[in-house]
Amino acid sequence: MIDRAKLTEIYARERQNFVARHPTSSAAYGRSGHLFGQVPMTWMNKNAGGFPIYLERARGNRVWDVDGVEYVDFALGDSGAMAGHSPDATVAAIQDRIATQGGITTMLPTQDAEWVGAELTRRFGLERWSFSLTATDANRWAIRLARALTGRPKILFNSYCYHGSVDESLIVVGPGGEGVSRPGNVGEPVDVRITSRVVEFNDLQGLERQLAHGDVAAVLMEPALTNIGIVLPEAGYLAGVRELTRRHSVLLINDETHTFSAGPGGATRAWGLEPDILVIGKSIAGGIPMGAYGLSAELADRALARSDLDLVDMGGVGGTLAGNPLSIAATRATLEHVLTDDTFKAMIDTATYFAAGVQSVIDQHCLPWSLSQLGARAEYRFASPAPRNGTESAASADAELEDFIHLYLLNRGILLTPFHNMALMSPVTTIADVDRHHSVFEAAVRELAGG
Ligand code: PMP
Repeated sequence: MIDRAKLTEIYARERQNFVARHPTSSAAYGRSGHLFGQVPMTWMNKNAGGFPIYLERARGNRVWDVDGVEYVDFALGDSGAMAGHSPDATVAAIQDRIATQGGITTMLPTQDAEWVGAELTRRFGLERWSFSLTATDANRWAIRLARALTGRPKILFNSYCYHGSVDESLIVVGPGGEGVSRPGNVGEPVDVRITSRVVEFNDLQGLERQLAHGDVAAVLMEPALTNIGIVLPEAGYLAGVRELTRRHSVLLINDETHTFSAGPGGATRAWGLEPDILVIGKSIAGGIPMGAYGLSAELADRALARSDLDLVDMGGVGGTLAGNPLSIAATRATLEHVLTDDTFKAMIDTATYFAAGVQSVIDQHCLPWSLSQLGARAEYRFASPAPRNGTESAASADAELEDFIHLYLLNRGILLTPFHNMALMSPVTTIADVDRHHSVFEAAVRELAGG
């Protein structure tokens, strides 16, 4: 369908336009020799234009770069800014904590922490909460607890999942159907097959085969894959996972860091799921570092009763800055005033409008592409029907086409999440913002189709 020569030609043109529009970002990148890979974090080299745009400021769902260009932001920090940039209530709580009350990190609890725990229980059902600064750490600690509580060594993942830089999770289904280290895994500490098992998403038979080994402590999964494109669960799949994990006495950990977009209580509440442990991060503190994991009361009591587990000092579950007053204050304000039940409804309505518009462009141009929506987030994939699992989704990636679309949108004031074609709606994203995306997306498709 896609004329590759044409794609290469118009992508090259877009790259030239990008360079011409961003002299200040380009110069800043050129001057960044003290940074590993010229960027604050090496993944910032994932950009379609050859260098990143440098941030000047951001507010709501708008970002401005150092060349004075304004963007409608559908990336929202890949969920970290799902509440919008610097929402008023969160900023007020942060300022109060830092400037009025004082105390960013003290190693003392604040009373807001119990409010946050109770609110997370109301939303997700799990009764006992503990805090980290990242979803990665929340996952790591959940995994340690699961191993300690079950006495089993392995964690099972879905192929092409992403749960942060968690050693155990860097495993994919290999050609023979068994797990192999994910390509590119940097400095693997031990062979991942010692610590982990892997199965395709939406594959209950494969899951049953892997659990039958009797060595799996927990299944750690997203209720829908979101980091290899959105891959939605098929009817009965998640109920089947719960049934199999229970039958094999395996704990179920839902990582809701991205699937939180499904509603105020994430996919867990929206779809009536019953995990033993739940992990969340990124968005809940309005962009301030924060992560959390929740345990059932029964699991928490069992862990606390174990005198052999050092939960207080250097037992491997802890972080000095975790649970700090600033992160907790920001989380309370964000959950109480910004990412509320009501705002989720509006965000999801906006995403539904986004999805319908993209689908209609796909249909009009008879493209073999698909669109998946997960509450407030939607994503287009260059495959139809939509991939059913991580391996299919990875195989459908088209790096040049993705880079072209990203850059075409960026050059016209629209930001998508750099790692995929994901658009997330914040509480302040408007229908007019979505229309703007659609007109640029349509123009890109028209040029690609040669019309
Ligand atoms: N879990 C999921 C589902 C994620 O998508 C991510 C990051 N993309 C993480 C965990 C890790 O989050 P962080 O990098 O903030 O630790």
